[in-house]
Amino acid sequence: MEIAIIGGGISGLSMSLALAKLGIQSTVYERAEDLSEVGAGLWLQPNALRVLQRLGIEDEILKAGFVLNKMEIAYPNLKAVKEVDSNVVADRFGNQTVAIHRARLQAILLEKVKAVAKVELGMPYLSHKQQGDQIEIQFENAKRKADWIIGADGIKSKLRQSLGFASEYRQSHQICARGIAHIRLPEALRKEGKELWGPKRRFGFSHISEDQVYFFAVLNTEISPAEISIDSLQEMYADFDPVVNQIIRATDFVHSTELADLKRLDSWHKDRACLIGDAAHATTPNMGQGACQGIEDAYYLAQLIHKRSPNLRAAFQEFEAQRRAKVDYVVNNSWRFGQLVHKPWGQFLLKSIMKITPENVVKGQMEKLYAVD
Ligand SMILES: Cc1cc2nc3c(=O)[nH]c(=O)nc-3n(C[C@H](O)[C@H](O)[C@H](O)COP(=O)(O)OP(=O)(O)OC[C@H]3O[C@@H](n4cnc5c(N)ncnc54)[C@H](O)[C@@H]3O)c2cc1C
Repeated sequence: MEIAIIGGGISGLSMSLALAKLGIQSTVYERAEDLSEVGAGLWLQPNALRVLQRLGIEDEILKAGFVLNKMEIAYPNLKAVKEVDSNVVADRFGNQTVAIHRARLQAILLEKVKAVAKVELGMPYLSHKQQGDQIEIQFENAKRKADWIIGADGIKSKLRQSLGFASEYRQSHQICARGIAHIRLPEALRKEGKELWGPKRRFGFSHISEDQVYFFAVLNTEISPAEISIDSLQEMYADFDPVVNQIIRATDFVHSTELADLKRLDSWHKDRACLIGDAAHATTPNMGQGACQGIEDAYYLAQLIHKRSPNLRAAFQEFEAQRRAKVDYVVNNSWRFGQLVHKPWGQFLLKSIMKITPENVVKGQMEKLYAVD
């Protein structure tokens, strides 16, 4: 059985690795000639780490990234909205949150996949057609055959379009500027991931290595991406704690993106094809769960393919039934949260809820989010 995976991002590479662990062959087809990505960091939460542990690569990820003991929402002056027990960021097995450079995570995944499966770079997928029990895949400059095809080609998925699924994007009217600063934070901040909430602006940061700090600045689109620079960010965050400006000043390059998600699809699969990760359910990054959900998808789908083989249609159906509720929870809450936090009354409401929610309720919510069967 040959499975073609379109897209060599975090979801596609995790998919190939999870299949290989179960002795199932796959080939990853990635449009880019190489997978070195500029710029930003990523927070990998306990649910993703649990899967990466089962795939046998957690130790390397922990070594390549930076373990955070605490994730905190705070005022612009760094004071926590609500003091939390540091264990809130760990799941019941002790997995914590790891901040890592995206390119490092991808490089580790790629190296592991190359050792156990095939990866073809420089292969932009164009279309596919079914021929009996096989699929013929048309890439820009080549054709390949497979028995089944998995779309992990991101929010703008071409495979999703080929399947005829509606692709509507919800624009959040927010811009996210991200960068990596070469700086060491004061001791009190070194092991924390922090998100500071100001009026219509947020600023999040954490170490991703001993001397690198990843940051993101989320702003309303009254400002256009072209207006965002290191200088303009310094002005916009001048009233935040001085550490924010120190981080911005220690950055060489800022990458800005308009935040959007994908409107809920009616289905994630059709015939011999199935979508995973952002291709199926791209979310806004307000819960820091997009990549984590893609990694979870890979793990669950691989298990079901193994269980249902050679009837992968049944695996695809079961996968969707199993994953929908959690993914909907993440996408919808992330969207609501992102919209509320940039409105004065919404932010007031969120802070009030946070202050009165008992810690055991927060822990219960976290456990639900972090659980991986
Ligand atoms: C500002 C921001 C911050 C974020 N922070 C976090 C975070 O802290 N934690 C977290 O878990 N998530 C976070 N996310 C979400 C996370 O980045 C995505 O959910 C994740 O990258 C999705 O992975 P993917 O592999 O599904 O898709 P992608 O990362 O989009 O990868 C798709 C791959 O497919 C390839 N491809 C595309 N089209 C084709 C084609 N036609 N043929 C072949 N290959 C193709 C692409 O080149 C790419 O390599 C954040 C997102 C944003 C925007």
